[in-house]
Amino acid sequence: MDTSSRHCALSIHDARRLLHSRELSSRELTESCLQRIEIIEPAVRALLSICADRALSQADEADRVLSRGEGDALTGIPFVAKDVLCTEGVKTTCGSRILESFVPPYDATVIKRLLSQQAVLLGKSNMDEFAMGSSTEHSAFFPTHNPWDLDRVPGGSSGGSAAAVASGEALFTLGSDTGGSIRQPAGFCGVVGLKPTYGRVSRFGLVAFASSLDQIGPFARDVEDCALVMNAIAGPCEMDSTSSPVEVPDFTSCLTNDIRGLRVGVPREYFIEGMQSEVRVCIEEAIRVLQKLGAHVDRDVSLPSTEHALAAYYIIAPSEASANLARFDGVKYGLSVDGSTAEEAIVRTRGQGFGDEVKLRIMLGTYALSAGYYDAYYLKAQKVRHLIRQELDEAFRKYDVLATPTSPTVAFPLGSRLNDPMQMYLSDVFTLPVNIAGIPGISVPAGDVSGLPVGLQLMANRFREDTLLRVAHAYEQATEWHLRRPAL
Ligand code: GLN
Repeated sequence: MDTSSRHCALSIHDARRLLHSRELSSRELTESCLQRIEIIEPAVRALLSICADRALSQADEADRVLSRGEGDALTGIPFVAKDVLCTEGVKTTCGSRILESFVPPYDATVIKRLLSQQAVLLGKSNMDEFAMGSSTEHSAFFPTHNPWDLDRVPGGSSGGSAAAVASGEALFTLGSDTGGSIRQPAGFCGVVGLKPTYGRVSRFGLVAFASSLDQIGPFARDVEDCALVMNAIAGPCEMDSTSSPVEVPDFTSCLTNDIRGLRVGVPREYFIEGMQSEVRVCIEEAIRVLQKLGAHVDRDVSLPSTEHALAAYYIIAPSEASANLARFDGVKYGLSVDGSTAEEAIVRTRGQGFGDEVKLRIMLGTYALSAGYYDAYYLKAQKVRHLIRQELDEAFRKYDVLATPTSPTVAFPLGSRLNDPMQMYLSDVFTLPVNIAGIPGISVPAGDVSGLPVGLQLMANRFREDTLLRVAHAYEQATEWHLRRPAL
């Protein structure tokens, strides 16, 4: 490896030190990422667009700020955003033909906050169309490959963001998580991924999938980096009425490396038949590590409503999606196909613009919401949602965190679940309840099965990202899984 390609492998906290001491310039760091992208992209295909010129001029601007002795934690740090986040002047496709040439006139709040710190936007990452999927194979453009094994999926729907961080293309990335789309690909690609509490991060400028479940969060190579990105993106925003006024702590100050006395619950519903036994072994070992660090582990925990989470999610998420996606009619944004009547034009635009999985979800949602079926499906799913929430609220009166596997298996081969939606949906059984309850969840690298990463998922009570990060950090300090890199 030449020196320049090593810079792109730095953590944010290391790069930050070098940038502020002027031992490294943002231009050098950005060039190193762009070179890495050139080498890696033909094999991994994590990115839908690359804005090299813009990135380099942003890097020069960051260098000017740094040379004045100014700058914040992310000044000059190159990142990539999932292509579901609006970026002013940079195409935002949501992985869909219907938005193939859509260029937003404004930045999402998270993008605005990162750019105001002079973080450097390198490009946009591949994703399942409108974030519907678990493998990135539902991208309308091409699938992304897992950097650990190019014949396998990176997970989804933020698979491009996970693969980009794992392969050293960017120092951090942003994703969105509606049912697991940050944590599951983070687990599959051996990086850290955090889904914040619902309301913690503004959704303004995030193209909506299921508005009551969607959250934006970071992918990073370690927990400290994740905390630094959270410091920049979290907090209330006047453009998102669901963003919470709850105070945002400095998420790095909770990384104390001390979890003595912390109460960890291990819910038995997350160790189910059908999961890969090697994954179970890794997670049990990870829980023993927490115990050795002084945590009190209780394995006698039950969350019986968990088994209904998948069914409830596949009513609630498609219902909200069917309403949210009604805006793509060929009039306001994106693809516009002519017809002899307005209705024909809309039907043709949507018929040609949406892929099969998106159409499937819209039909499911429309059906679930239709008169006569509403009570049997949507209303019932909301009742299940209430039960799941209640159970978790109760659990967090007794435990500080719950520890589970992120996914029942490691990354699966490309193509292996594409024709079996149920198998695909099952990749998220362990991540969905977190969205349903609106609590935060994190996935950290916690093992290896024949060269493929395993993720440990930790959940905490609403707005307790500090606890999640503290536990994840202590675990990370006691293990070396987060230091491993794919041999690309
Ligand atoms: N895989 C789940 C789905 O397809 C979750 C996706 C997500 O979190 N965006 O809906």
